[in-house]
Amino acid sequence: MSAHVTARIDLGALAHNVRVLKARTDGRKLMVVVKADAYGHGLVKCGQAAVNAGADYLGVALLEEAVALREGNVPGPILAWLNTPNDRFAECIARDIDLGVNSVATLKGISNAAYSVDRIARVHVKVDTGLNRNGVTLADLPELILALSKAEAEGTIKVVGVMSHFAYADEPSNSTIADQIAEFKTAVDLLEAANFELEVKHLANSAATLALPETYFNMVRPGVAAYGVSPGEEVGAATDFDLKPVMTLCAPIALLKKVPAGTGVSYAHQYHTTADTTLALIPAGYADGVPRSATNNGPVLVGGEIRKVAGRVCMDQFVLDVGDLDVQLGDEVVLFGDPERGEPSVEDWAVAAGTISYEIITRIGPRVHREFINNSW
Ligand SMILES: *Cc1c(COP(=O)(O)O)cnc(C)c1O
Repeated sequence: MSAHVTARIDLGALAHNVRVLKARTDGRKLMVVVKADAYGHGLVKCGQAAVNAGADYLGVALLEEAVALREGNVPGPILAWLNTPNDRFAECIARDIDLGVNSVATLKGISNAAYSVDRIARVHVKVDTGLNRNGVTLADLPELILALSKAEAEGTIKVVGVMSHFAYADEPSNSTIADQIAEFKTAVDLLEAANFELEVKHLANSAATLALPETYFNMVRPGVAAYGVSPGEEVGAATDFDLKPVMTLCAPIALLKKVPAGTGVSYAHQYHTTADTTLALIPAGYADGVPRSATNNGPVLVGGEIRKVAGRVCMDQFVLDVGDLDVQLGDEVVLFGDPERGEPSVEDWAVAAGTISYEIITRIGPRVHREFINNSW
């Protein structure tokens, strides 16, 4: 069976990006975030490649993701920070997975689980410094600290880290950044005053890692940058930081046919040919992660030129108007990859689809075949 759509994943580019991020942060530890199937790139392969390239930690949202890394035999410290009350804490603790703790209730779940497997759970206190999403507020932190001290004394947990997350890191001059840094320092001080030995203090996501050295503390926690994708226009382009795109999304031409001028193309005929031309059918659609909102807009490299999607993106397919380009049935077209090879970028697709680059890569669906390569950079 040959795959219709292929996401070519360059683990060499990922390794290069890990080295670039590591060098940038000058001796700090590096946690590479591999949640959401490594942003659509393949969890276990990318996690292992990141560790091999020098990542000190892997970070995931869900406990299941951390367990999947261990089941794939990925070694080294792993943190899972997004917990729910019925999560498989015991299984994680038994597998040496660090856990985020955001409340007294979560702490209870974790310490009960640790007791049941007769292990000490390593926890990172997740503090809300102004994102107002996950994390304990500074107002509630003293109560959590009392409960953490008690649990440490009982031998069920050890507080090893503190973390928080920015609301506006992709706007490096936003005034909330200084406020969040100050709140984070207050949280660190409160935890250290309670005598916890914090191995790692981490606040910086990709944008902060690239643009805000004052956020580094002793570990940074980038995700999207490791995949060679910019976290946002204001931070800069991936190439400005020598980051190489890891994913190339391509598909073969499934059908070529000649049609006259004035032909309506795909559902609801949202595109009409303006001359006698050739249409190329591409077997990739929104079920594969090609955004439907890129109808008439998504850029594709075909026959050495960039052409926009002609008409609606459908569930399984879309069409290109290839005019008299020299293309053959089965030729590969590239939706996105490395702009230095003349291919559209993930960022181009984000603009075309009216979304952010993160969504373009993480939505690449399970039907897409991941092909792993290892170029040297
Ligand atoms: C996803 C996530 C990150 C990584 O963010 P990037 O912008 O991809 O670098 C870091 N920390 C937390 C808490 C996250 O949820």
